[in-house]
Amino acid sequence: MKPQVSYWKYMPPELAELGFATPVGNSTPEPCIAIDLDSIHHNGNRPFSLPADGLALESKTTLVFYSDRSRHLLNDLPLSGHFEFFDRSASFSKQALQETLQRLFTGTDRSAETILHSIDDLIFVFSSEERLLWYHWPSNLPSPIDPITAIGSHLQRLPLPESLLQAIEQGFTAARSEEREHAIEITLEDGHRKRTFAFRTSLQPSTDGSLDRITLTGREITDLVEARTSLSNLTEELENSFLRAFELAFTDRTTGMPNKAALMQTLEMTMENHGDESLALLLLHVRNLSNIGNSTRFDTGDQILKTLADRLKNETNRQTFFARYGEDEFAIFMPGDMATEESARLLKLMEAPVKTDTMEFTISCTAGMAFFPEDATSMEPLVQSAEIALREASETGVEKVRTFSPEDRRRLTFAMLVETELLRPNITDEMSLVYQPIVDAVTRKIRYFEILLRWKSPTLGVVPPDIFISLAEKIGVIISLTNWMISQCSQVLHQLPEDICFSINLSPVHLLVPTLVDDIVSLIDRHNMRPERYKIEITEEVIIRDPVEATQRIRGLKDQGFTIALDDFGVGFSGLSYLGLLPVDSIKIDRSFLEHYPEDRRSSALVEAILTLTSSFNIESIAEGVEREDQIEQLKRLGCNMLQGFLLSRPLEESAMMAMFA
Ligand code: C2E
Ligand code: CA
Ligand code: CA
Repeated sequence: MKPQVSYWKYMPPELAELGFATPVGNSTPEPCIAIDLDSIHHNGNRPFSLPADGLALESKTTLVFYSDRSRHLLNDLPLSGHFEFFDRSASFSKQALQETLQRLFTGTDRSAETILHSIDDLIFVFSSEERLLWYHWPSNLPSPIDPITAIGSHLQRLPLPESLLQAIEQGFTAARSEEREHAIEITLEDGHRKRTFAFRTSLQPSTDGSLDRITLTGREITDLVEARTSLSNLTEELENSFLRAFELAFTDRTTGMPNKAALMQTLEMTMENHGDESLALLLLHVRNLSNIGNSTRFDTGDQILKTLADRLKNETNRQTFFARYGEDEFAIFMPGDMATEESARLLKLMEAPVKTDTMEFTISCTAGMAFFPEDATSMEPLVQSAEIALREASETGVEKVRTFSPEDRRRLTFAMLVETELLRPNITDEMSLVYQPIVDAVTRKIRYFEILLRWKSPTLGVVPPDIFISLAEKIGVIISLTNWMISQCSQVLHQLPEDICFSINLSPVHLLVPTLVDDIVSLIDRHNMRPERYKIEITEEVIIRDPVEATQRIRGLKDQGFTIALDDFGVGFSGLSYLGLLPVDSIKIDRSFLEHYPEDRRSSALVEAILTLTSSFNIESIAEGVEREDQIEQLKRLGCNMLQGFLLSRPLEESAMMAMFA
């Protein structure tokens, strides 16, 4: 089928040469008509008026062909309308004609053309018989079709890429069906880039309702598609890195086990969905791991940890969840009914010796256990309860696996309150000192007073020293308390007879302070007191923990003139044998030995042994906790030098003590 153009009377030969055919009917959509003035002149048809037979000149462009012969007829053309002139006498170029036709067939006018030029979309307008009436091909996409031959051609004859043909055909099918609208995506290659177009079909029905024109618009969505692809790549990448981060966040690097965060998540989720079936959380502490880690090759600790982790990982019980909980702690989460048995078994499993490439290590563990829902109904309190139980187990050392009891929590809460109070800046305002006499066993004359701290808190009431002293040691407050105490008692001591001395308890943590000796000396100096009037009570514990430092400090004190007493003697871990090596002046037999003395054979044997030892080393012996007269007789007989106890005197307030010397 040829492209069509209407003409008046005679078809210009130039158009016929280009293959234009005569239009069929009047409703042809061709954009122009043609008039050959030479043919009019030749046929003598003059003057002419433009025909009224359907060629609406105003709305179309008229191609006017003429020559010198027919030039005069130009005057007969109507004034309005749009004309394109082709002067045969000036021999217009064939190309000019073709360009004009192309412009007319692919665009209505120049400005529309420039707008169209910038549009990257594909547009096709077809007649209901599937003939191409008009189209726009993006200027930046190589076009496969020739505009002059394409117009009027049937779809099947258009040299279009297969995918485009299919899209158009599907558009037709859709247009003819009920849906009337249709969208499809196609990709065209333009040599170096894949261009994607999204097609939409729309219809312009003619007035009688039959299909008239079908418009297919292919919106270029290449950028969108590219963005979509790179976005999906990006999302995939993000997803991967998120998974990696997720894995990292929930895995312990050293052991490859789930970590604490993973445990927390698991606990929370399990507890939420568990109803009230019992669950148990066991926290297992490897007691000697940090010591091993600190005293061997740097990676030995890790090797041991890995071995221990593997032991847990090899447990195939799917009801049990294992995690690394802390530096030297594991967490085990399991059904409550199996917990008691399992915890004992796992502890045993963990305590089997560990072989590394250098040596074999013995392992010692303790554990704390708490139950859901008995001890706690949510994750945090459950973990806290297990931690409290573990701490109790570690501190007391009595049980290997300790099950949480509410009493543990009360004690801990109280300890927390005590610590908070102790840290208050003017805490010594709530403190006072009491003085307990230590007398010569033979003469019953007072030789020393042991200075004891008392605390009456406005919020907590009277807090016994057994409780607050150890907490003050833990948080370091004991040092300032002791300094305050030394300063206070020095003022009192100043007023007492020269042969009376004060016995001061010095905490282990304080003994390890390097400036201790100078600090105490300058404190008592302020009250013009000499070191000879003070006995410093220390415990064995510190000597065992850090023998070198402790011995050095004790010597420092002795060099200044202080005397040294070893307090609570006999309860510690040391043997009696090393007593001779220490520069101590006195030992205080712990009051626990006096409780059933002398009737209990064991206590009696121990007291006897200590007294034999002290007299052979020429060390002063002090018996603490003397409550009965018969004890004094016995102690005296064995050569005990000094006595202290409720029988002789309870700790006294300052006024009561001063009254003794009035
Ligand atoms: P400790 O150093 O062994 O002090 C002697 C404890 O035995 C005192 O208890 C005293 O009241 C008690 N006691 C004395 N005679 C008897 C007796 O016949 N029977 C019984 N059952 N007990 C007797 P207190 O005052 O409760 O002190 C307890 C512990 O608190 C002291 O034990 C000491 O370790 C510590 N402490 C007290 N004051 C201070 C201090 O100023 N500094 C330091 N670091 N610790 C102190
Ligand atoms: Ca003492
Ligand atoms: Ca004591």
